[in-house]
Amino acid sequence: MEKYTLLPEQLLYEGTISESVFFAPEPLPEAAILRTHTPGYWHKLKTNTLDRKEARAIGFPMRPELIARGRVIAQGTLDCARIAFREGVALNIAGGTHHSFAERGEGFCVFNDIAIAANELLHSGEISKALVVDLDVHQGNGTAKIFEHEPRVFTLSFHGEKNYPHRKTTSDLDVGFPDKTGDAEYLARLYEVLPNVLDRERPDIVFYLSGVDILATDKLGRLACTLDGCKERDRFVFQTCYDRNLPVSVSMGGGYSERLATIIEAHANTYRVAEGIFG
Ligand SMILES: [Zn+2]
Repeated sequence: MEKYTLLPEQLLYEGTISESVFFAPEPLPEAAILRTHTPGYWHKLKTNTLDRKEARAIGFPMRPELIARGRVIAQGTLDCARIAFREGVALNIAGGTHHSFAERGEGFCVFNDIAIAANELLHSGEISKALVVDLDVHQGNGTAKIFEHEPRVFTLSFHGEKNYPHRKTTSDLDVGFPDKTGDAEYLARLYEVLPNVLDRERPDIVFYLSGVDILATDKLGRLACTLDGCKERDRFVFQTCYDRNLPVSVSMGGGYSERLATIIEAHANTYRVAEGIFG
């Protein structure tokens, strides 16, 4: 949890960003929650009546403050998307809760921020197509399921084949890697896949889930990428979108390296690279 305060501190300290570019989201309105999540699930969250099994699947005891926090984070991703329309890129210092389904949560994910933002923008007519580039090491099972029958949202997930979730859902395009996959193999697939998908799908916005749990040092990752490889991944995503004039809304996603400094460095790289390309 410390990364959410340390990351902005680091970015300010080193001058990658200034205080003036921060924005603070309001809690997401109920109507927007209900465009993605079922009324039954939202009712249970609101009244704190998830049963023990449902709460255990999410992984932490549900408290009203966590619901409130989730609503602010989801609105943050929606705000990022709208800022990205103007500025090219905007990044949420949280979010990427891709294990949340329409009717339930799991894996520490209550609301699905990217699904909520995409559905809201489709509903308002601000976009007609979205692309989810989910490069967190865990498969975006909730996002894939939510958009299973939605042709206006293309879901792409790169993940560890053997990693959680062990029962995977089907994204529009899944790329699974064996344990210990390193930079060369990982990046080669990215270079091959991403430009093709962008050129074929021609989205109005890209939602990039930039989890840094692909690092060799990650306790939950199982892959073997380096900090430089992870930075190059981010650079390639941003450059490929920038070259096509595509706005990018970034949700931070996972990062569980042993040393907190490694986690902060990897996430900070995402901001440094975004600033270098779009700034
Ligand atoms: Zn993850």
